[in-house]
Amino acid sequence: MSRHAHDAYDTRDSQEATGGGARRSLAVIGAGPAGLAAALAAATRGSHVTLIDAGAQAGGQFYRQPAEELGARRPQALHHQWRTWERLRDGLAAQITKGRITHLMEHHVWCVERLGLDEPSGFLVHALHGPTQEEPSMVRADAVVLATGAYEKVLPFPGWTLPGVITAGGAQAMLKGGLVLQGRTAVVAGTGPLLLPVAAGLASAGAQVAALVESAGAQHVARHARTLSAHPDKLVEGAGYVAELIRRRVRLKARHAIVEAQGDGALEAVTVAALDPAGRVTPGSEQVIRCDTLAVGHGLLPHTDLAETLGCRLEGPAVAVDDEQRTDVRGVWAAGEATGVGGAALSLAEGHIAGCSAAARLAGREPDPRAWNAAAKSRARARDFIASVDAVFAPRAYWAEQVTDDTVVCRCEEVPASTIREAVDELGATDARTVKLLTRAGMGWCQGRMCGPAVAGLTGCEPVPSRRPFARPVPLGVLARAGEERPDE
Ligand SMILES: Cc1cc2nc3c(=O)[nH]c(=O)nc-3n(C[C@H](O)[C@H](O)[C@H](O)COP(=O)(O)OP(=O)(O)OC[C@H]3O[C@@H](n4cnc5c(N)ncnc54)[C@H](O)[C@@H]3O)c2cc1C
Repeated sequence: MSRHAHDAYDTRDSQEATGGGARRSLAVIGAGPAGLAAALAAATRGSHVTLIDAGAQAGGQFYRQPAEELGARRPQALHHQWRTWERLRDGLAAQITKGRITHLMEHHVWCVERLGLDEPSGFLVHALHGPTQEEPSMVRADAVVLATGAYEKVLPFPGWTLPGVITAGGAQAMLKGGLVLQGRTAVVAGTGPLLLPVAAGLASAGAQVAALVESAGAQHVARHARTLSAHPDKLVEGAGYVAELIRRRVRLKARHAIVEAQGDGALEAVTVAALDPAGRVTPGSEQVIRCDTLAVGHGLLPHTDLAETLGCRLEGPAVAVDDEQRTDVRGVWAAGEATGVGGAALSLAEGHIAGCSAAARLAGREPDPRAWNAAAKSRARARDFIASVDAVFAPRAYWAEQVTDDTVVCRCEEVPASTIREAVDELGATDARTVKLLTRAGMGWCQGRMCGPAVAGLTGCEPVPSRRPFARPVPLGVLARAGEERPDE
């Protein structure tokens, strides 16, 4: 963590904290770095915060904690920037004790409703919780911070549905959250900076990592060397992972990609091939690597469902925000990877700014940007860095050429690539929505969250916002009751 990012939030009570008068309430959805920083900044400045997260513990993806019942003795061994986490964790505990933050864990928010359409009068946050995640709960708030993070982009290839093939983040989540290593011999593949900590984490935890297969090449890095070198802290972090991989004799295969996963009922090997400068597979370069785990990642996509239902404007795949992290819907702020994927330091900075701004505006004050000076600097630096990272690690072009006709693309509805190609080539579909209507791809349980980018890629169009009304499936009975049982407005 850079010094700027470390200083960007403050867990002590601020001079601005309310001396009297009714506290206005803020719902912060997501307890990752962005949500924690927002909740702490707002609570220490006088707002009452309800922090809501689907997870069993705070931390989000970056600070994912092992389940308490596992009794991990050294959870920090799986993390970096542990001191920052300790400050967040202790700050949260202190604010909960003071009654300024209510922390609702294992609450999955399915919708945020705007109250009073003519005269806005706050928000109703609808969540599901309980052992089956079907118990409804509602939180009334004067304002909302959306800090819902990102999810992994999944692209299909022959054999990707075999047991043993998982996402890179999934492998890491099992390790950090469950202290579990899937399999013994792993290949980590795809593209993006996440692959390095995943491969290093698996290797340090005892897996034999047979190879790290990255589709970007050294020339991509060289093209952005100047901007990247302006961020020595990040380069040092990356070099640390590379050193760990070299020490553990992990083969690093740049400008290579997985073209097939093979196995009889479960993963037994992967075929890897070299890529030409345009990103096409070089014929004859295929090589088989034996493994029982393939952790594959193609980057992250912002979680925007709740923002979309609220009517917030998107910019590309992310929620659009101003300098204060406000969306264009009054009373709604967004921070962290929901506003664009950029790493934990950026999420912390954005969360802090959102929390400061929301607390001031809820108290009827014009916020003073000096309150987030350090965070604004940290945000600018991180955004500059991430723009170069995105340019280096864009998912390779021509991935669709390796998708054979019998490869399942939509797992929920079991739609193979041939059906999607037929919809495009023979039925004239030119967009993912028409393909969905013709083939059912994206109509299942996950509502296209997994297959959306793949269907768009095979259709030859850009992915578009989904406009799903709910962020997760909701039982009909809960929907019916949501209309009848309302907290006092
Ligand atoms: C699988 C995965 C693994 C990653 N691993 C690394 C890593 O090793 N190193 C690294 O530098 N970066 C990693 N990242 C990137 C990382 O997410 C960010 O750097 C950082 O955690 C982003 O912080 P955030 O607060 O914006 O989002 P997150 O940390 O993702 O937190 C978002 C939180 O919102 C909650 N949430 C989302 N939707 C809802 C809802 N509808 N209802 C209730 N709660 C909800 C989630 O449970 C989550 O706790 C990873 C990302 C992913 C997706």
